[in-house]
Amino acid sequence: MKTKTLRKDKVNIITLGCSKNMVDSEVLSGQLLANQIDVVHENRRSDHNIVVVNTCGFIDKAKEESINTILDQVELKRRGKLDKVYVTGCLSERYKNNLEAEIPEVDAFFGTMELPLILKKFEADYKSELIGERLLATPQHYAYLKISEGCNRTCSFCAIPLMRGNHTSRTIEDLVKEAEGLVRRGVKEVMLIAQELTYYGLDIYKKRMLPDLLNRLADIPGLEWIRLHYAYPSKFPLEILDVMRQRDNICNYLDMPLQHAANNMLKAMKRQITREEMEDLTAAIREKVPGICLRTTLIAGFPGETLDDVEELKSFLVRQRFDRVGIFSYSHEEGTSAFGIEDNIPSEEKERRAQDVMETQQEISLEKNQEKIGKTFKVLIDKKESGRYLGRTEFDSVEVDNEVVISGSGKLSIGEFYNVKITKAYDYDIEGEVVS
Ligand code: SF4
Repeated sequence: MKTKTLRKDKVNIITLGCSKNMVDSEVLSGQLLANQIDVVHENRRSDHNIVVVNTCGFIDKAKEESINTILDQVELKRRGKLDKVYVTGCLSERYKNNLEAEIPEVDAFFGTMELPLILKKFEADYKSELIGERLLATPQHYAYLKISEGCNRTCSFCAIPLMRGNHTSRTIEDLVKEAEGLVRRGVKEVMLIAQELTYYGLDIYKKRMLPDLLNRLADIPGLEWIRLHYAYPSKFPLEILDVMRQRDNICNYLDMPLQHAANNMLKAMKRQITREEMEDLTAAIREKVPGICLRTTLIAGFPGETLDDVEELKSFLVRQRFDRVGIFSYSHEEGTSAFGIEDNIPSEEKERRAQDVMETQQEISLEKNQEKIGKTFKVLIDKKESGRYLGRTEFDSVEVDNEVVISGSGKLSIGEFYNVKITKAYDYDIEGEVVS
């Protein structure tokens, strides 16, 4: 079989799943580059001869997508279009033995913490001095900053601790050094990510250190927006909000997955919080940071969920009026404590319930967007598509939240901020024009 040997190896990294996986791919590419190995992300041209698939193993749909992507790449290898296919990430961490048996065409499978082993395949050395240096897969004006790995929580539906291990915080020094490096390269916005953001520091500093980290990051000149993702509601450290209120470059934005609102579901999910405590928490958050944008994520169809539970969740959304909501259908994951409970809700019914909940949120989202008409917001321009510019306010994170659509305001620069007056509102987007 003719193989596609190039004079010089070129690696294409394909990333599936979440932003934390994206950062791992960026770190891998930074290491390959530092070892003079040519590397690209999601290469549209097929001028590479080696592929690394960084997989996701979170829920069924994600696992399916990961396996299909691997099969696509080994098919290319079979047809001589590729020399090597390597697989890493959460699916590989979780199912390595099965995958090795089922897809022997893959040259090697790696776990989530095996970067040096991957590099060995390229006769490359792991360069610890490169901490924080990575090839960004995002547009140059924003980047994710992963402040810790793993999780010590025990949510009954979640397989992440099985794939990412226990919570491990990175040091404030490393994170500040990394953020300074990102700003030097033109980054204006960083999204702080982790499996569980609010746990930061409890392992290495023996106390919650997110407020301290936020202040150090906010001190970095040129870092215009700092955004918080994946906060855990139970024992939420309200001091974070004091820093958010005091520092202009920390977005008044908080992503805090709540998963459900019916107490029997919260208990079965082992979320360590009740609906009443969540309502007290959101009230305290809004009191501390008036006008804050609250994003949450929910699960529909957890085993034992009744239609009354779904109604309770919908009425919770109507009372709470979150700005942004995402929802997943429950996925029955072996190795999780919920796997022992009968998965008694058919997948179509899970989907129907998820849709039903989102229809409630859609109305709220439209009303909240309509309240923005006539107001002016600082908007970061992300891209231009079919003649229109798309950007975000401080209340919108990338890919998951609303976009600001701007047309007829002349030429704008990607990665720059503009003041935009909102003229129209839709369910999940707003439209506006640049004002001076
Ligand atoms: S906080 Fe819960 S849902 Fe989030 S990663 Fe940890 S165990 Fe999973």
